[in-house]
Amino acid sequence: MFDYSNLTKTELENNLNITLNACEQIINDIKKDSEPKLEKFDLLEREVNYLFGRVPFMANVHPNQEIREFGHQAESKVRNFILDSMKDVDLYEKFNEIKSDNFDFEEKEFYKDLQNDFIDVGHNLSENDKSLLSEIDKKLIELEIKFSENIAKDKTKLKFKKHQLDGLSEGELSNLTLEDNQYIVTMAYPDVNAVIENCKIRDTRETVWKAFNNRASNENSPILKEAIMLRNNKAKLFGFSTWAQYRLQHRMAKNPENVQKMYNNLIPKLQKSAEREKEEIVSDNIKVSEIAPWDIRYFISKKRSSLSKIDSSELKKFFYIHDVKKEMFSICEEVFDIEIKQEDASTAWHKDVELWSINEDGEKIAFFYLDLYPREGKYTHAAVFDLASGGLESQHLPMSSMVANFPNPNTGDGLMTFDEVETLFHEFGHILHNGIGKSKISRYVGASVEWDFVEAPSQIMEHWVWKIECLSRFAKNVETGEMLSEEICTKLKNSKNIGVSLLTLRQVSFGLADQHLHGSDYTDSLEEVESQSQKVTTIEYPGDVMHLSSFGHLLGGYDAAYYGYLWADIIGDDLFSRFENEGILSNSVGKDYKNKILKPGGTKPAEELVKDFLGRDWNDEAFLIQKNLLF
Ligand SMILES: [Zn+2]
Repeated sequence: MFDYSNLTKTELENNLNITLNACEQIINDIKKDSEPKLEKFDLLEREVNYLFGRVPFMANVHPNQEIREFGHQAESKVRNFILDSMKDVDLYEKFNEIKSDNFDFEEKEFYKDLQNDFIDVGHNLSENDKSLLSEIDKKLIELEIKFSENIAKDKTKLKFKKHQLDGLSEGELSNLTLEDNQYIVTMAYPDVNAVIENCKIRDTRETVWKAFNNRASNENSPILKEAIMLRNNKAKLFGFSTWAQYRLQHRMAKNPENVQKMYNNLIPKLQKSAEREKEEIVSDNIKVSEIAPWDIRYFISKKRSSLSKIDSSELKKFFYIHDVKKEMFSICEEVFDIEIKQEDASTAWHKDVELWSINEDGEKIAFFYLDLYPREGKYTHAAVFDLASGGLESQHLPMSSMVANFPNPNTGDGLMTFDEVETLFHEFGHILHNGIGKSKISRYVGASVEWDFVEAPSQIMEHWVWKIECLSRFAKNVETGEMLSEEICTKLKNSKNIGVSLLTLRQVSFGLADQHLHGSDYTDSLEEVESQSQKVTTIEYPGDVMHLSSFGHLLGGYDAAYYGYLWADIIGDDLFSRFENEGILSNSVGKDYKNKILKPGGTKPAEELVKDFLGRDWNDEAFLIQKNLLF
């Protein structure tokens, strides 16, 4: 097990250089081999994967800023190393000499995927096209970095008098900086969310909503336009008519037509339901026909607290992080027939980090770290990082880490909001996927599945949070020891779907814009794309906002792929339907799920995994039921 404690920058530097040299050696061995083998390519990926988990990963979690910065530099160094190796003509020639006659199905899949990777870096292109591709790729990386930098650098600050922020709690107000008797609202999520959800003054909500959706829009609009053009040129080099066609070729959806089919099927149902929701949530003497985008989350939050009649600070007392975690583990142990054991974490990068193992039939099969609490300079969202796929002399077992920002019980009360409980379960789905997946090929261990399927095994975990069978096990008042009453559980459950169609339609509008920008009408102006896509929400949008230019996903790896969130959501709901029908905590369904979805990891196309588990093709019926869209 790698020792992350007491790391120095010099050690990390050495580690990086030694591993890259070792990888270089593997590549040279392949190039010298008269009978090149597929295993060597797998070994190479294993080494690189493990290197990511030791060095670049530190950029997200290490307490020392110098080491975090080194982690960032190391990441671009490793990525460039991979790209350069893949472009190596001699290596590609050797790859083509590999004899594939006796491959089993995993090896066949790996061979095919590697072939695609080599094609993707341009080996089959003419010399002229190859150099065009290099130029495009270099320029795209530059634009991507600039685009997200501009959003992060946006320092818009809005000033409000106290009466303009009516509705914010004392706690929310105290989080804002006071300057000359005015409160400063920055574009940071906690500030924006507090106003958008709780501020009673409509003008204030409008000002903040517009500023947030216009972050960096002047600087970023030309960058976005240029990236769209370059992507289209790149797709054409490879013989595809659009970037979306090119990007989706190896995804579960396969092509933009299938994505459009999903949207076409859902949109009328969502719109019909949205009309009903508007009537239900509207307040403050605003007419339904005049609901603006900055009203929706405010209305939803108002409706939710009036329905549940639970103060959120009271509710938090039922979700003490160690209790929730312990019971989540015990539920997973029962349902999936595994054991989760605490391990000695003295090799971790911080004293708050825990190390656990997943065990099956008395045998350790994977490790995972839990780095759950905020720290200066740490990654600010919640995610699971894959640290090693195992199978190496230095690291036998797969290893991953959850990195999140939940309330710290070591320095504070450790009481979670219900949303945070849901996030914990979601992220633990990624840990299970990473840990339980088995394959002799490194890249197929665990969560290395098609990009539009990867969220399904984590999305499914969220369902347990809303089920009384589970809630009643972990929702225990930390002061009195009493369990959350069935009445409150039911109220919570009932509040789940308030405004859900309106919120989903907004997501749909982002997905439609993403497809439009990367489809055959890619030359349309951003204004045209923005206004067309917003129509789907049934809410009138203002003309003075260019949200697309502040939408980080478009240049952050989700280009032509934003639909994947909804896609995986639909599949996750369908997978959970077996638990709904055969028992929420059914161990036989759980084992089936483990063996047919989690264990095969990426060895089979996701479409087949899902079919193996459901015994049929997946559909959106469970999703429609979950979201109350069947009427
Ligand atoms: Zn996730």
